[in-house]
Amino acid sequence: MGFLPRLGRDKGRPTDPDGIYFYVRCDHCGEKLRIRADRRHDLLEDYQTGTLVWKKEIMDSRCFRIMYATVVFGPGLRVQSQTVEGSGHFISQEEFER
Ligand SMILES: [Zn+2]
Repeated sequence: MGFLPRLGRDKGRPTDPDGIYFYVRCDHCGEKLRIRADRRHDLLEDYQTGTLVWKKEIMDSRCFRIMYATVVFGPGLRVQSQTVEGSGHFISQEEFER
C-alpha cells in the first residue's frame, strides 16, 4: 500500500480504485470542480435506510463560495440522489471536460 497515487501512467484510466469522482459547477462564477470521495473512508452508513451517505463541503477557487454536496448511495454504490446546497449543482464528467 503506497501513499502516493500513481500518476502519469495510463492517463484518464482510473488508477484509483477507492476514488469516486463528482463534478460540481458553481452557479455564481461558473467554476467547474472535480471532487473525490474515498469509498473506504468518506462514506457514512445510514443505518436507518441502509444507504451510504457522502457529505462534502466544497469551495471553488474563483469566488470562494461554499457549497455543501450530499450524495446518497444505494446497493452496489449506485447513486440514489445527489444534491448541492448553496450556489452550485452537479454536472456530468462530459460537462466538466467540455
Ligand atoms: Zn464560484
